[in-house]
Amino acid sequence: MRKQVHKRDNSRCQVRLSDNSRCGEIAIDVDHIRAGDDHRLINLRCICDWHHNKKSAAEGAQAYNAAIRKSKAKFRRTEQHPGLL
Ligand SMILES: [Zn+2]
Repeated sequence: MRKQVHKRDNSRCQVRLSDNSRCGEIAIDVDHIRAGDDHRLINLRCICDWHHNKKSAAEGAQAYNAAIRKSKAKFRRTEQHPGLL
């Protein structure tokens, strides 16, 4: 599968830049366009190291923030703060 993606994408990074052109850097890794278990060719693309690192960092931060939100949502004060009495 990796080989097929590299062949299709010519081993060039397929990430779109802000001007909608492709990055075009030499790509070592294959990336899931949408994270998850979709391993079809249509959901895979070549990605350069730089974009891969950037994406991984963003996904890590997202997961971290989601975990923080979740832990905050779980905490509910059931009693009034003693300072308010
Ligand atoms: Zn790139």
